[in-house]
Amino acid sequence: MRMADLIAKKRDWYTLTKEEIYYMVNEYVAGTIPDYQMSAMCMAILLNGMDDEEILNLTMAMTDSGEKIDLSAIDGVKADKHSTGGVGDKTSLVLCPMVSSCGLKIAKMSGRGLGHTGGTLDKLESFEGFNCFISDEEFVNNVNKNGICIAGQTADIDPADKKLYALRDVTGTVPSIALIVSSIMSKKLAAGADVIVLDVKCGDGSFMKEIGAANELARKMITIGNNAGRKCAAVITDMDQPLGYAVGNALEVKEAISVLKGDMQGDLLDLCLTIGSKMLILGGIAKDESEAGIMLMKSISSGAALNKLADMVEAQGGNRQAVYDVSLLPSAKYKVDVISSISGYVKQIKAEEIGLISMGLGGGRATKDDEIDLSVGIVLNKKVGDYINTGDVIATVHASSKDAADDACNKIVSCYSLTGNPVERPPFIKATLG
Ligand code: URA
Repeated sequence: MRMADLIAKKRDWYTLTKEEIYYMVNEYVAGTIPDYQMSAMCMAILLNGMDDEEILNLTMAMTDSGEKIDLSAIDGVKADKHSTGGVGDKTSLVLCPMVSSCGLKIAKMSGRGLGHTGGTLDKLESFEGFNCFISDEEFVNNVNKNGICIAGQTADIDPADKKLYALRDVTGTVPSIALIVSSIMSKKLAAGADVIVLDVKCGDGSFMKEIGAANELARKMITIGNNAGRKCAAVITDMDQPLGYAVGNALEVKEAISVLKGDMQGDLLDLCLTIGSKMLILGGIAKDESEAGIMLMKSISSGAALNKLADMVEAQGGNRQAVYDVSLLPSAKYKVDVISSISGYVKQIKAEEIGLISMGLGGGRATKDDEIDLSVGIVLNKKVGDYINTGDVIATVHASSKDAADDACNKIVSCYSLTGNPVERPPFIKATLG
């Protein structure tokens, strides 16, 4: 078999066989298929798609490319959650401690930022000393001890996704349903949880801009999960503006902590309650949404969820004090306000552009080896539906240099569209499936 022939086959809209898909994945992991050929294949898949059987074969080939974590040493139901990626998406940092303090075991594998979207691992590294890459044994021990662990895939788990994820990030090949389904589900299957809830983002700041594509993505992931014997559900949520207010690693951690302290409500908390309820019901901890909602809110009001986050941070070598005193988290040298020169209701905030501006400040990677600056980003002050007066602060830019801050401020102004008429806030949860 030759990779060049397989690329041409996909380019010409033919279906790849199971053997061809396993060959391509295994040889890429082994290093005998170079990045340039795999980039061409990813682009051909993005442009011409894959049918359900090809996606299933790609997912299984990726899962089989490495070890599968054995969670059998953990008592109780093990749950995992995954987002397809959005701007300001710090959901896991809030949701996982909440759900864990309600009694569900969280054994979660997370990723780094991809394109203009952030990644939970980068955010967690805002806690000084936090180690994302622990052994499988430590992962299992931490879940047994604290009821929660969020870690990066070690090199042994789904190495195919590790290589492909980094390659897609820098070759314009992220927003393909086939590649996203296989990337997410191969990791989830290898990570071994019994319950998987998927947050499928839909809108300008996500990889799925249209509700039809988001639905298709959600359905395909649920089918693969169910076929593999896992309980799966999905929510489709709005990404036509950033989630919450903060975009940027340490800034998002600070916002997550505010929600866990009970100091903040809004779309982020709503999302955690929706996904958390699904997880608690599928995991057999709550009988219905009303019971789940009460348990989840109590996890905040009692301080249990905040303490869970601190326990997790400490178990992975991070400074637990930073959970209670966020001034210990990274902080940017320059903070510059974006001032509105006009007034009106916010009609739209270009979420993808906000993600790209944060990336440009150093909060994300442009090439796979880039170091990121955990302290930088943007904190929005106004969201869709809010009224802005001339002279109001729309957002604050956190940057490492004055020039970078000024440049970002100018760009942020053009991300906001205002109108003279009141704007209804769009429904945040667009659909739930499974
Ligand atoms: N998240 C993933 O893990 N993979 C993707 O391809 C997109 C989002």
